[in-house]
Amino acid sequence: MKLAVIGHGYVGLVTASVFADLGNDVLCVGRTKSKIDQLNNGVPTFYEPGLEELLKKNVKAKRIRFTLDMAEAVPDADIVFIAVGTPSKENGEADLSQVFAVSEDIGKLLSGYTVVGCKSTVPVGTNLKVGAILEKNAKPSAKYDIASVPEFLREGTAISDTLYPDRVIIGTAAKRAEDVLVKLHSPIGGARVLTDIASAELIKYASNSLLATKISFANSIAFVSELVGADATEVLKGAGLDERIGKRFLNPGPGYGGSCFPKDVKALVSFSKKAGYDFKILEAVHEVNEDAKRRVVMKIKDMLGSVKNKKIAVLGLAFKPDTDDMRDAPAIYVVSKLLADGAKVVAYDPQSVQNAKRVLPEATIYAKNVFSAVKNADIVVVLTEWREFTQVSLAKIKELVNQPNIVDMRNVYNPAEAKKLGFNYVGVGRR
Ligand code: NAD
Repeated sequence: MKLAVIGHGYVGLVTASVFADLGNDVLCVGRTKSKIDQLNNGVPTFYEPGLEELLKKNVKAKRIRFTLDMAEAVPDADIVFIAVGTPSKENGEADLSQVFAVSEDIGKLLSGYTVVGCKSTVPVGTNLKVGAILEKNAKPSAKYDIASVPEFLREGTAISDTLYPDRVIIGTAAKRAEDVLVKLHSPIGGARVLTDIASAELIKYASNSLLATKISFANSIAFVSELVGADATEVLKGAGLDERIGKRFLNPGPGYGGSCFPKDVKALVSFSKKAGYDFKILEAVHEVNEDAKRRVVMKIKDMLGSVKNKKIAVLGLAFKPDTDDMRDAPAIYVVSKLLADGAKVVAYDPQSVQNAKRVLPEATIYAKNVFSAVKNADIVVVLTEWREFTQVSLAKIKELVNQPNIVDMRNVYNPAEAKKLGFNYVGVGRR
């Protein structure tokens, strides 16, 4: 099939590359010339494991191309996927300006029969508005249907998530569009949920908000465990072994971040409120998450007293391992607060430094590896569970630091081992 993908961010580029690899003819539209040139040379604009190989292979096979010009991509496409950003506004609402702007351009260019599928995460009712924009702008001869095709890939495992998802959600009122989308997804694994547009839109928010709820619940159990002398990792393991609960997403930590959970939780609260429902659980989920970030700084201060003029080594900045995405990462709050309180922060992250420089205060110092980060540090703080941190030699770290303090916000180290080596060790919710 001929596909046009609008937007080449984490969702657009992965979707475009995977569908090209499955044999489709894909044109991906962006708006920055240097990035389009880079992508046409097979070089991704962000870090995602396996993406460079996949992209290079498909650029070489001429199954995927990148352009600034929507007019090259849309008229011939069987399916146009909208994969632009839907960030949070100040008041928590989803900012839909990118979706509506591209819809106008798409509308003007529609020709023949086209399915316009929205992969961006959008509040219920947005796709109908997209439909209205298309109608206003399309030529009378153009035939099209709209569909909500929300995306569930996770950064870090985006390619296999796209090829082998748990489910594919297709929300549309048009049988013809449903048939086209079912056919496109036929080589892809997972269950199919064929539903109406509003339900498809809400499924995405329900999924992300429920996962965020699990994380905030795990963090609350960790807070309580620390007060009553239980071990949250044991508690959550014990609870998660109940199949109705499930083990995943029950790890306490420095709070959830990234480009999806924070904004999607806020957007669901916001559009529920507009519709007349006060989504109290999610307001609490957000509050607990803010608290989780503050507690990182509290743990550091519990160990050091004042952080003024102390050297703090931060291991990991991205909101999770295997991505360079710094959007809403807990590190932003933690590093900014420590610097504001007079600490010297030396950070190391294997992939996200370029993005971190855009969102962290200028005073942040970046180290080239774990050992240069921890040299002469008064405390080592683990914020992201990158693989390379999990088996790093704590003995070597001990030799390099000024004071042997570890705040392990991902519970990657064995507390007994760390203590045996002479560290003052504190994890999250651990005895
Ligand atoms: P992103 O910010 O990485 O990418 C958005 C892209 O859209 C950018 O490349 C931007 O340049 C492009 N764009 C915006 N306006 C454009 C225009 N007029 N013409 C051409 N390109 C335009 O965002 P993302 O992380 O890929 O997320 C996209 C959507 O998918 C969001 O709604 C997000 O919530 C959702 N989503 C994201 C993930 C994820 O893990 N990142 C997972 C599932 C769903």
